Amino acid sequence: MKPPALEVDQALSLVLGRAEPLPPIAVQIPDALGLVLAEDVVSRVDSPPFDKALMDGYAVVAADLAEGTAELRVLAELTAGDAPRHRVVPGTATRIMTGAPLPDGADAVVVLEDTECIATGQRPMVRMSHGPVSVGRHILRRGTLVRQGETVLRAGRRLSAVDQGLLAETATSEVRVHPRPHVAVLATGSELVAPGEIAGPGQIPNSNGPMLCGLVAQAGGQPSDLGIGRDDPAELLRLMTRGLESDVLVLSGGVSTGDHDYVPRVLAELGVEQVLHRVRLKPGKPFWFGVAAHRARRTLVFGLPGNPVSCLVCFELFVRPALGRLAGVWNSQLRRRELRLAEPFDHRGDRPTYYPARLRQEAGGDRIEPLAWQGSADLRTIAEADALVLFPAGSRRYGPDEPLTVLMLGRP
Ligand code: AMP
Ligand code: MG
Repeated sequence: MKPPALEVDQALSLVLGRAEPLPPIAVQIPDALGLVLAEDVVSRVDSPPFDKALMDGYAVVAADLAEGTAELRVLAELTAGDAPRHRVVPGTATRIMTGAPLPDGADAVVVLEDTECIATGQRPMVRMSHGPVSVGRHILRRGTLVRQGETVLRAGRRLSAVDQGLLAETATSEVRVHPRPHVAVLATGSELVAPGEIAGPGQIPNSNGPMLCGLVAQAGGQPSDLGIGRDDPAELLRLMTRGLESDVLVLSGGVSTGDHDYVPRVLAELGVEQVLHRVRLKPGKPFWFGVAAHRARRTLVFGLPGNPVSCLVCFELFVRPALGRLAGVWNSQLRRRELRLAEPFDHRGDRPTYYPARLRQEAGGDRIEPLAWQGSADLRTIAEADALVLFPAGSRRYGPDEPLTVLMLGRP
């Protein structure tokens, strides 16, 4: 007797229960994009590192302009990158450019447009007649943006391009992150030929291999393609042994109950513990998941059905969230939305079914439209899909006012 198939959510929690963030590594900032921080980042410096002029003009003592006008002796000129050498005292000013450090003694900047040069040469002078200026005018004080010792980014954050800039600003050169999982991809099936090869009688191209490698890369993993394994236990054993060197092994095909479906048997022979087999789901019912324990680490093994659409659905439902978890995303869950149908739809079937669907942007909000789909080999139609829409078990007509659960497909 086969055990009853699990529900999708039960299966997903079993999968996520076995997926732990990979041990952290140190990476340089240029390599950190998209990776998840394994620890808080504390700024090593103040930002800005000095009181900084925000405008071109003159650094002055604000009190000199209490009457609204002044004629001041110009001591020096400071551009961005200079270190100030002259103290500004009452009756004097320093010509200053945007980004330059404010000299000691000065406490405001008067913008260039409000000044007039009245003498040059040995004793340059400037006249200001704008009106009084407030202390701190056009100055960004040291440490206003970030204080040394302050936490700027928290563990668990997926680093963005802006974060990379912020890390540089805080004088951080390296961060500890969870690495991208290494994912081996093996398509099984004696009927398969490599993409680009002309298929002989009874043969078909291996479309799952390239699709899975792309999905893995999109989901933040590092794919390595093990190519095609024929339905031959010895060959599968050899290729899967290699696959078990990765953090994750993704297989396609050979997990149903046919005579030549060797995948579960070969995995058992390799000592891979089966966690689950078969899920109450369409397409994707034969889905298999297990774990291989090595000395210090483990490999998660996903056996996806060979039909390309079933393969995609199982990837989105189970593999993508697991890859997120390995890469350090704690709340790695499905990207679900609630949407209404664009048109009424007749669903038939006794299993929860994921239909490929297109998002339609309408004035009243996004709507979802199941595509006219020719079964689980139909990648052609799926190429137009933005999402999978879930119809619960049981045949009936769904009207356009019923909200349905929609799983957004990953996009590059
Ligand atoms: P299986 O899960 O091995 O029973 O395969 C189910 C169906 O998917 C069969 O029609 C296979 O020919 C097809 N199939 C299996 N693997 C692939 C693949 N890598 N690319 C495209 N179709 C496949
Ligand atoms: Mg097969």
